[in-house]
Amino acid sequence: MIIVMSLDSTDMQVNDVVSRLEMEKISYNIEKVGLRTLILLAVNKDRIDEVFLANYPGVESLASSWASLPIIGKNYLEYREYSLKKFNLKEEKPIIIAGPCAVESRDQVFDIAKHIHDKISLFRGGAYKPRTSPYSFQGMGIDALKYLKEVKEEFSVPVVSEVMSQKQLEEAYDYLDVIQIGARNMQNFELLKEVGTQDKAVILKRGLSATIEEWLNAAEYIATRGNENIILCERGIRTFSKDTRNTLDLSSVPIVKSRTHLPVIVDPSHATGYWNLVEPMALAAIAAGADGLMIEVHNAPDKALSDGDQSLKLERFNEIITKVKKLYQLMTTF
Ligand code: PEP
Ligand code: MN
Repeated sequence: MIIVMSLDSTDMQVNDVVSRLEMEKISYNIEKVGLRTLILLAVNKDRIDEVFLANYPGVESLASSWASLPIIGKNYLEYREYSLKKFNLKEEKPIIIAGPCAVESRDQVFDIAKHIHDKISLFRGGAYKPRTSPYSFQGMGIDALKYLKEVKEEFSVPVVSEVMSQKQLEEAYDYLDVIQIGARNMQNFELLKEVGTQDKAVILKRGLSATIEEWLNAAEYIATRGNENIILCERGIRTFSKDTRNTLDLSSVPIVKSRTHLPVIVDPSHATGYWNLVEPMALAAIAAGADGLMIEVHNAPDKALSDGDQSLKLERFNEIITKVKKLYQLMTTF
């Protein structure tokens, strides 16, 4: 068993717990992981008065083992409901994130935002693009971030974009409300530690070939640095199937929700690669219990500099979101 001390627990509170363990003749080890103090106990749980321990000042939760993800896991004796306010988002579910794959110009993001801003929780747009070919459009960098900030100010909608390095995180920090870690960087542990140290919410996409355990451990890396405001995003995984860009693993949604208290959203755009598959998979994701969606939209998909094939036209996006919201409401009345 692991006793997880809260981020602001004091040495005295740790000592109080330890004195109690010594009194009970329970052996222990104290570990510092990031900003956390964890007390590892070498006993099975029926020897421990759990409720009593959990009520010690400074104790945040009790976890059953390392494999159970002490910080982001659904620990017993404790259930945390996530708060969208802490994520810099308005308290409205489902979480709808939409915008172009890449910011291509000021006009482009303004045109898209004008049509969708009142239907979304967060506007997305890539500034630094992780492209397979070094000759493909790599994103507009700092100019894109400036346009995103202007969108935020004009339409009162928070904005998110991906960063791929510590340098980009520093460059982008002031422009963004939420930071995205893309599939290709899910196990970039140094970057995970960096986003864990800053105070903005993080969207962590599932790696191209990552198991659920690897994905959740990546989120735990962020959380050990103090930032627990993490949204997990399922975006499909690599399989032998050639009919879609990736294979959408919808079963990850209920699995992840049973193991953590973090919100889980689904990106049907990157998961399928085709705009006509976005609606059925978006609805399926909501039916599977997803807390929200990330969808790529474009004002002229056939002219998009990246991911045009999977980008929805603006009118179609609005129609789909109406259905998504109705289905979400129905799901929460069951
Ligand atoms: C994106 O959302 O812009 C993106 C590149 O997605 P992924 O990291 O899931 O491939
Ligand atoms: Mn894209």
